[in-house]
Formats: sequence, C-alpha cells, structure tokens
Amino acid sequence: MISRIEENFYRISLRMPYRLRHVNAYLFDHDKELILFDTGLNVSGSYETLEKDLTDAGMNINNIKHVFLTHAHTDHCSMAGLLQKKSGAKIYLSKAAAEECEHLRQPDSAIKQLRKFYSQQGMSPHQIDLVIEEYKYIQNIIAEFNTDSYLQENESFEFGNWKFEVIFTPGHAAGHVCFFFREKSFLLAGDHILPFISPILSPDIFDNNFRPLKAYRDSLKAIGKLPVSTVYPGHGNPFIDLNKRIYEIQKHHQKRKNNVLNNVASQPKTTYDITSELINDSVSDFDKFLILNETLIYLKELKADGVINEDIANNILVYTKA
Ligand SMILES: [Zn+2]
Repeated sequence: MISRIEENFYRISLRMPYRLRHVNAYLFDHDKELILFDTGLNVSGSYETLEKDLTDAGMNINNIKHVFLTHAHTDHCSMAGLLQKKSGAKIYLSKAAAEECEHLRQPDSAIKQLRKFYSQQGMSPHQIDLVIEEYKYIQNIIAEFNTDSYLQENESFEFGNWKFEVIFTPGHAAGHVCFFFREKSFLLAGDHILPFISPILSPDIFDNNFRPLKAYRDSLKAIGKLPVSTVYPGHGNPFIDLNKRIYEIQKHHQKRKNNVLNNVASQPKTTYDITSELINDSVSDFDKFLILNETLIYLKELKADGVINEDIANNILVYTKA
C-alpha cells in the first residue's frame, strides 16, 4: 500500500508473511527520478506489489535510481538486488552493513562460526541446527547486489529539495544508519526506534568486542539530540515524541538487564540456562533464540559493569555473580 505523506514523499507499506506483518519503505520523487529508502522483503509477489503500488501512484519502478538502506536485515534490503537489476539503481549502505551481507555470501564459514558461537552459550546441536535453517533461509532471500557507495557518518546528500544526512546508529544492527532531513526536521529511522516495540538486539557473532546494548543506547542518545519533529519508522506508523519513546526504551532495557542480573547466581549458569529461567515453555524455539540473544547482550553489559563474572569451562561460557 502506498500513501502520500506530502508532495513527492510517500510511504510504501509492504506485507511480510511473519512477525511484524508490514515493513515500511519511503520514496521521494525528484524530477521523475525516484529515491527509495529500504526495499521490503523479497518473497513471492513483493516485487509485483511494489511495481503496482508505484504504477497506481503514477510512477514507474524503472525510475528508481537510488536505493538507500538503513541496515542489512532481509525485510529492509532483500529486494535491493532486484531493483538494481531492473532499473540500474545505485545502492548505498554502510560498510558494516555491506560486511553483514558479505558474511551471508560465504555460508560455510558463517555456519561454522554460528555453531561455535551458540554452543559456547550452552545451546544443543539440535537447537543450533534450527538457527542454521533460519540463517539459510535468510541467505537465500537476499537478492545479490553491488554496493555503489558506502555511506559515511554525517555524509550529506541532496536531490533537489530533498536534503538529508546520514546518522550512524549501530545497535539493532552493527551497520544501522538513520537518515535525518534537517530542513524538514524528520527522521527516517529504519529499525533504530519503533513506535510499539523495542527493536530486537542481537550479538555480532563475528565481532565479540561489539556491545550491541551499549552501542544502541549511545545511538538513542545521538538521535535524541537532533531537532526531530516526526519519526518515520521501518515498522508501524509515524510518531512525534521522539524523546518520550527514547525514555521508554531506555527504561525497558534497564528493567530487562536487572531481570537478567537477578537470575545470575553463585553457581555457574550458561546463557541458555539463564534464558530458560526467564521464559515459559509456550515460547517458540525461534522466539527463545531471540530472547537468548538479548540475554547474552545484557550479560555482556553486566560483565562490563563488573557485577558478574564470565568463565569458560569445556568450551562453554558460564556466569556467576561477582
Ligand atoms: Zn532490522
């Protein structure tokens, strides 16, 4: 579904078969050249829906000449390659996001790393197999593309009246960026901040030094300083009170982090053990995996705070209260 926000600025809401149900792409029309921010999920019928939406609004998919990506998650980037093939669009994303895509192109080494990483968290080989299945699905869904330019921090772009800056917002994904339209005082936020859920955080299995929660909270502070009047998120409706939403999400993480701390004891526990204590049996395997990822990032922060210890025994990480 396409809706006009203001002259030459559109929101395109594209269907997803799971979870959040819809993902938003945003489109700007500049002299018949179309500039697209995020692309939607590459599943059967998505491309045709996008094409029809544009035709209905009097535009042509072949005129998409620039595609800017907030991050390398499938629901935001997986159609970029199709659009590039069709219209020759230039594709822009951060170097860290491009590296995430690069890992997906080398599945053998990525799968080996996944096994190593999650067995260290106390997951069984069978549970890891389920994660790998999901990983392979993601790998197949992203249409290959060539990156034309790596986005630089605070880089500015100008397409006629549409001027925006690239704001680096690592956290939800290491290579996440937002696009800030200073003159219009609006922010295309991707998944950095959403109106109704706290964006998922997960570890970078290739970079153990990356602290997703610290990075995320710092990135929230960074956008909180910008003079933003309207936020256009990757999922859900636009919203106005950015700093109120930042406050709610910061509080949410503080509470969750305390919950994890309360489940660390004097006897050693793995990330998997702690996660199991935080949830009930009705939680699906995949949701449990997402919660395990979050538990892990809280443990990382608690370790950095010096309130828990991390040790390794038989190649499995265990945690105790300091
Ligand atoms: Zn995402």
